[in-house]
Amino acid sequence: MSSSNVRAPKGTADMLPEVARAWEHVTRTAEAIFSRYGYQPIYTPIFEHTDVFVRGIGEATDIVGKEMYTFEDKGGRSITLRPEGTASVVRAALEHGLTVNGQGCKLYYSGPMFRYERPQAGRMRQFWQIGVEALGMAEPTIDAEVIVALMEFFAAVGIPRDRMRLLINSMGDERCRPAYREKVASFIRENASDLCEECVRRAETNPLRAFDCKNPGCASVMSRAPLLRDEMCDDCAAHYAAVKSLLDDVGVIYEEDTSLVRGLDYYTRTVFEVQAEGLGAQNAIGGGGRYDRLMEMYGGQPTPGLGFALGFERTLLAMRAAGIDVPVPPSAEVFVARVAPEVAGDAFAVVTRLREAGIAADMDHQGRSLKAQFKLADRLGARFVVIAGPDELAAGQVTVRDMASATESRVALADAARELGSRLHDR
Ligand code: AMP
Repeated sequence: MSSSNVRAPKGTADMLPEVARAWEHVTRTAEAIFSRYGYQPIYTPIFEHTDVFVRGIGEATDIVGKEMYTFEDKGGRSITLRPEGTASVVRAALEHGLTVNGQGCKLYYSGPMFRYERPQAGRMRQFWQIGVEALGMAEPTIDAEVIVALMEFFAAVGIPRDRMRLLINSMGDERCRPAYREKVASFIRENASDLCEECVRRAETNPLRAFDCKNPGCASVMSRAPLLRDEMCDDCAAHYAAVKSLLDDVGVIYEEDTSLVRGLDYYTRTVFEVQAEGLGAQNAIGGGGRYDRLMEMYGGQPTPGLGFALGFERTLLAMRAAGIDVPVPPSAEVFVARVAPEVAGDAFAVVTRLREAGIAADMDHQGRSLKAQFKLADRLGARFVVIAGPDELAAGQVTVRDMASATESRVALADAARELGSRLHDR
């Protein structure tokens, strides 16, 4: 194995304890909030039949066209590592009948996603998302609900509201969008000489994607393109107006962005994105929208749905840019030092009892001197050190040292857990 093979693959990152703790903190925060909104957890496989993504996300999207990790398994099936969560959740809901007879279901998920993209700050090949999906619900109150839930999540992890922008738009539906798509395609053809090759190609495959082009020349041309707002059917217009009014009613501030189209084919009507300050080009920390046709694309009954996904890496960058620290629990509130190797067994019994009593406790397992054990206790942030020496133990006692006041007292072995528990509690 060459040394390059013992590194994590390009575009992936190990979550070392500090970041892993942040992941657990944000997933716990998400779980607390989303369950209060009535969402239940779901875990789907990390890989699916490739067709689940091709049908749902669309052949002409960057994800399906260029970014999927697809391989043939030993049984000759085409398998893809999931590039996003929605397609899998909708596939699972259909397979298990979670929305039969018009019942709705609200689900949340978290886990790694895989896209073969060019890695840069905030853009990884394996990245972590948290998302929600609300299935079977057509009314605009649910659009407002998922947006409110997303904003509450970002507020709860500490990103200040004035460092975020909430953009919303409506993409219309199968009645008004096809004609609009055609208009945008014609506009692209008419302006082909001022657009990049990719945008010109998009006229034939996925014209609305031209609104997403990062090329400043294309953005300036596309700012003159026809707007769906002017072509929207009455139902879509009423739905969009209702969503905005609901957000207004609960005081959620948003900006309407007519160029927000989001890349995936399955979106209909409401789409939204949250951008954060201080992240550079990859500033979208979360986004989502409605996908009322997706279940049918899998052969199910027409079932409305919508949801969002937020990216953990970018959320963490936004938290850091705002100076937010993730709370760090003490590694050990109590450290049990063994004075001599012969009493290691007694020290182990004490540390075990403390842990059983709910106290974060630790001891040395590397043969350190007493002095080095005290250093370790300091490093772990222990407030008390229990000194287990042969004399004390012979008398059925241990010495407890309060690290802040440097005072020591003897405590009966049998009382140590209770005594330390109450001393830690009193502070
Ligand atoms: P999407 O599924 O593309 O709507 O993405 C939802 C969220 O996932 C985005 O707002 C980002 O925060 C995050 N995200 C998407 N792609 C990546 C990536 N390649 N690396 C890191 N985060 C990503």
